[in-house]
Amino acid sequence: MAIRKLRVNDDPILRKKAREITEINDRIKTLAADMLDTMYDDEGVGLAAPQVGILRRLVVIDVGKGPIVMINPVIVEQKGSIVDVEGCLSFPDDAGYVERPEYVTAQFTNLEGQRCEVKGHMLLARAICHELDHLDGKVFIDKKVPTEKAEKMIEAQNKRLAKEQNKKITASGNQTDEMTSEAFEKPADMQTISALNGEDSHE
Ligand SMILES: [Zn+2]
Repeated sequence: MAIRKLRVNDDPILRKKAREITEINDRIKTLAADMLDTMYDDEGVGLAAPQVGILRRLVVIDVGKGPIVMINPVIVEQKGSIVDVEGCLSFPDDAGYVERPEYVTAQFTNLEGQRCEVKGHMLLARAICHELDHLDGKVFIDKKVPTEKAEKMIEAQNKRLAKEQNKKITASGNQTDEMTSEAFEKPADMQTISALNGEDSHE
């Protein structure tokens, strides 16, 4: 395990499309471990292989609920929209507002070669979208919403979220939805596709 050199700013590799991974060999496993080390060292919540100079479809994410290693990930479903501040380890001096889905469902292969699915809400949804963009040579600085517009969007969004929160409190006595969103973000919620398809019924 090692910390790899981050590609930053106008490095052309950040604009290139990454290739599918066809075999999970030791090189891929080492790359994943090194990417986690590099991400934690820089206190990031996600990292994509092109950011360490490797054009393969591999990302690592940890939004504080444990690491997720995603090989050949794809977003299969997305819902809603949230504007929030975003940054990137490859653009250390930049940050800005970006609009992302509120919920996403992504499918990917794990290091054991099983196809898995993860549902992300809020920060995890944002991290998945941001990292998957990197695999297609897309970077957040191109998606920034101007501050004034973003602040108006956030005002409307906060009203909507508060309304939804109230509705949930009314519907479920005095419980908040915190438990729900917590559970939604836990990598423990990650399931293999076979389990999802009901082939593995002991779940
Ligand atoms: Zn990034």
